[in-house]
Amino acid sequence: MRKILIVDDNAKNRKLLKVILESHGHETIEADNGKEGVRLAKESKPALVLMDVQMPEMDGIEATKILHSEDETAGIPVIAVTSYAMKGDKEKFLATGFTDYVSKPIDVNEFIRVIDKYTQGK
Ligand SMILES: [Mg+2]
Repeated sequence: MRKILIVDDNAKNRKLLKVILESHGHETIEADNGKEGVRLAKESKPALVLMDVQMPEMDGIEATKILHSEDETAGIPVIAVTSYAMKGDKEKFLATGFTDYVSKPIDVNEFIRVIDKYTQGK
């Protein structure tokens, strides 16, 4: 079991990810904007962060840049979870500092494959 931080301003999206992750034996914590996500990541040191992109207060790109740039959180993988599925965006997100990318709507099998990749053996 690993602790996974879900950062998304949409409560339904958080709930969906929470249900999938918990059914696969993980513990989840949640934040509804990037600023709170950064605070919780520093406080809770999750194994993995799932990050929405468009959010109020602080968006997922800004939050990921902060996590990536600070020693205490730089080692935590951050997966972008976003509906921006246009060609070329994956590369753009990876260049921002995201570790990987999952597009919405979520394909459960693909989602779990990515989660396993960053949580197995830890
Ligand atoms: Mg959003």
